[in-house]
Amino acid sequence: MAKRSLFLLCLLLAGACNLPLATQPAVGDSVAASPGILAPTLPPTYTPTAVPSPTATFQPTPAVEADLAALEQAAMRPEYRGDVALFPNSTRYWIEVAVDLDSHAQQAEMSGLARIQFTNPLDRPLPDMALMLWPNDPQYQAEMSASLVVIGNQAIVPEVEAGGLAIRVLLPEPLQPGEVLDFTVPFHVRDIGVMKASDPRRFGFTHGVLLAPTFYPLVPRLVDGAWQVEEAPPGGDTTNSDVAFYHVQVTSPLGVALAASGTEIDHGDNGDGTATTTFVTGPMRDFAMALGPLQMEQRIVDGILIKAWVLPEHASDSPRILAAAAAQVRTLTARVGPYPYAELDLVDAPGAFGGIEYPGLVFIGTVGTQRLIEPTVHEVGHQWFYGLLGNDQLFDPWMDEAAATYTEVLYYENAVGPERATTALSEYRQLVVSYALDPSSPIGLPVGDYFSEGEYGLIVYIKGALFFDALRREMGDAAFFDFFHTLFTAYRYGFVSPLDFQTSAEQSCSCDLAPLFNLWVYDGGPMPGP
Ligand SMILES: [Zn+2]
Repeated sequence: MAKRSLFLLCLLLAGACNLPLATQPAVGDSVAASPGILAPTLPPTYTPTAVPSPTATFQPTPAVEADLAALEQAAMRPEYRGDVALFPNSTRYWIEVAVDLDSHAQQAEMSGLARIQFTNPLDRPLPDMALMLWPNDPQYQAEMSASLVVIGNQAIVPEVEAGGLAIRVLLPEPLQPGEVLDFTVPFHVRDIGVMKASDPRRFGFTHGVLLAPTFYPLVPRLVDGAWQVEEAPPGGDTTNSDVAFYHVQVTSPLGVALAASGTEIDHGDNGDGTATTTFVTGPMRDFAMALGPLQMEQRIVDGILIKAWVLPEHASDSPRILAAAAAQVRTLTARVGPYPYAELDLVDAPGAFGGIEYPGLVFIGTVGTQRLIEPTVHEVGHQWFYGLLGNDQLFDPWMDEAAATYTEVLYYENAVGPERATTALSEYRQLVVSYALDPSSPIGLPVGDYFSEGEYGLIVYIKGALFFDALRREMGDAAFFDFFHTLFTAYRYGFVSPLDFQTSAEQSCSCDLAPLFNLWVYDGGPMPGP
């Protein structure tokens, strides 16, 4: 995420930084009630057995068919299609969702089915299954319900946890190690609110565009053998999840632009004022989309299709967004590693903080303002730090936020000039010294442990970027970038802990970095000079 509070601070610093739509019956009240709105959307050419309705005739289909892998490979650049086969046991989602949307009234409802295949990765039986309903988090300003979990022919009413943020079912039989749980969850999202520039959110309407990330039941991570069901403190990112494969069919009003994670593989007019569009992804840890009056411009950069989706009044910004994203993709390909997916989408999203990152799709909150470039390259930077190199966004937010802010410096260095990078670092230092309540705070605290959202932004993002600069100075350029490449090779698509990160850095420099990590990340202390 790019911080709105930082945006305001940056402006202080000389501007340098930067319906009644319920016409459809709700799904999920009865397993016998097949959601008719979804059935016609299945294109006959697309694995018709993949998304069954949760009726009494529900029959699980075989695990992963050969042509399924071929579909998933379509979301990868040709040279990375083999990566799909690296994750035979990753979770697979088949999601069908109907979006009843009125852009003018800024009202919408989403009704869907998520069929999920989850493989128990533990070495012991798993007694239960938890799912996150993130639209119920205050940052999402919507209401999500999922009142049944269908396993085999059994419909189970789940327990609701964390104030509606999660559901959990006790499995009829414990899931054995390596065994696949194949289940279906009907879901419904409604009362979707409108964003205000003064009160940034991550889900809802902005200027007639529906931003809809994580609109489906998300499988959380298993941490130390237990489901990570954690509420997210305000102001930080919310989700933690492992990479999965998504097959998503969206039925939405004909003519409404639709941007989504992954790659579109099918689109058809249903003849009733709606169209159905199918997306697939490679290994990604979330799926996001946006629908509304957006105009799209695209360009191909090193084999990656980059699309900029902007409001009509911001059409003149598209070339700058695409140019900045292209330069950042090239910068981070050289400095960290290749972006393996076939597509990257950038969506104009006023009110979505400075911007918000999702795999394969980012929201940019500052299109139409003077501060367009930094949030763009920051969110693109998250494709590497968060998207490909995962981290715990609640407990170790510095690992992606400090890194994404530092990728702005790398962008300056490569695309603008080294002197601009030096200037940015000086500005960061001035921000921390001038505005942080406690500049000696460590960058490695959980989101909720900072005094305020502003302090969180200053310490984790800005001081955090200065830590990356200090680390680079300590290690030297060659070892530092060798470390980035090594980390990427070892952990891409996975999760990195702070200890993994430090250990990998120490191996690259053959040096002891404990004093540096203790000072900046863990303990804090006076910030060393440049
Ligand atoms: Zn960020």
